[in-house]
Amino acid sequence: MAQLNSEQLLGRLIAYDTTSTTSNLDLIDFIRDYLDGYSIQSQLVFNDSKTCANLYATIGPDDIGGVMLSGHTDVVPTSGQNWNSDPYQLKTNDELFYGRGACDMKGFIACVLAAVPQLTNGRLATPIHFAFSYDEEIGCVGIKKLIDALKGFEVKPKIGLIGEPTDMAMVVGHKGKAAFRVEFTGASCHSAYISGGVNAVEYAAELISFIRSMNTKVQQRQLIDDAYTVPHTTFHVGNISGGTALNIVPKQCQFEFEIRNLPQDQLDDLIHEIKHYASDILLTDMRQGFEGADIQFSPISSYPGLNTARDSEVIAYTRSINPIDEFGNNASFGTEAGLFDQLLGINSVVCGPGSIDQAHKADEFVSRQQMQYCDQMLENLSRQCRNTFSTA
Ligand SMILES: [Zn+2]
Repeated sequence: MAQLNSEQLLGRLIAYDTTSTTSNLDLIDFIRDYLDGYSIQSQLVFNDSKTCANLYATIGPDDIGGVMLSGHTDVVPTSGQNWNSDPYQLKTNDELFYGRGACDMKGFIACVLAAVPQLTNGRLATPIHFAFSYDEEIGCVGIKKLIDALKGFEVKPKIGLIGEPTDMAMVVGHKGKAAFRVEFTGASCHSAYISGGVNAVEYAAELISFIRSMNTKVQQRQLIDDAYTVPHTTFHVGNISGGTALNIVPKQCQFEFEIRNLPQDQLDDLIHEIKHYASDILLTDMRQGFEGADIQFSPISSYPGLNTARDSEVIAYTRSINPIDEFGNNASFGTEAGLFDQLLGINSVVCGPGSIDQAHKADEFVSRQQMQYCDQMLENLSRQCRNTFSTA
């Protein structure tokens, strides 16, 4: 197989439409075959319907930890966006590479794959692991299957580099997120006789204003971290539906809300506060009017935040290989780094080519220079891994 550089590989990866929830198997097959060409075995961890898969592979010794390079293979949809070129065909000029996923985050995966010939040329003392996931963009859904599989491994990666776009700066923190659906069941009646019913829409509105008030409460409690653009945990209601007609007291109402928490805040306590208000104040009141009244919370998705110390092992290691020796601002967006860190104890940092400013937009791009920095980092990594990683 002719050796492909990161630009050529980016072109191959972009050509697969891997919009979240659609199958990523064609792209995974491509990566598996590519790695197979270098005698690297891949392990696939599928979703329940076998339409998507995570890919995990190791180069080098399998009895010590080593370094994990991680990225998601899915991309956000292009529908409703006005692109100047085909989003699924790499378009290049002197400076920029355009295409869906160019920075988020097929650029990073392309650089990782381009480093494979170096990584397999000779014996590694420290192993390198690849972890490529699916359905990250819809709430870090796919990686959870891989994490479950990794829990059973005798040896796990020691440190993780998650190549989300940070302009190659090292990002050590991001918020966590928990999203819920809440369904209110009241009792309907003619709106001329409201005392005979229990108005689900109005009770839902009370819980919504309570959730909204939590934004002020966390600030009053001094739960502030200025490393974040919005320096506190946030609470937000995104949609609501309920009722059928103005002259009927509505018996149904549902809405969805999310909490984006500072990693240092106790998310469970905040959720408990909301649930407690719903059950002890609102539901008690609702049941005075109708015994069958109910409020049900169902989780939609969640992932933990990341709070890696600047003097931790992963930072020392990344600084030794990254041509950009800079810390970035803590990220407002979530990544898989928090999951690796919290659920597997893999000390993780977010560091990858391109900018989040271009992610999810029309004419998404990654710059040639950013790709070169990333290639450079992985070249340094290949060299480093021939030496023993003292703490692995
Ligand atoms: Zn991403």
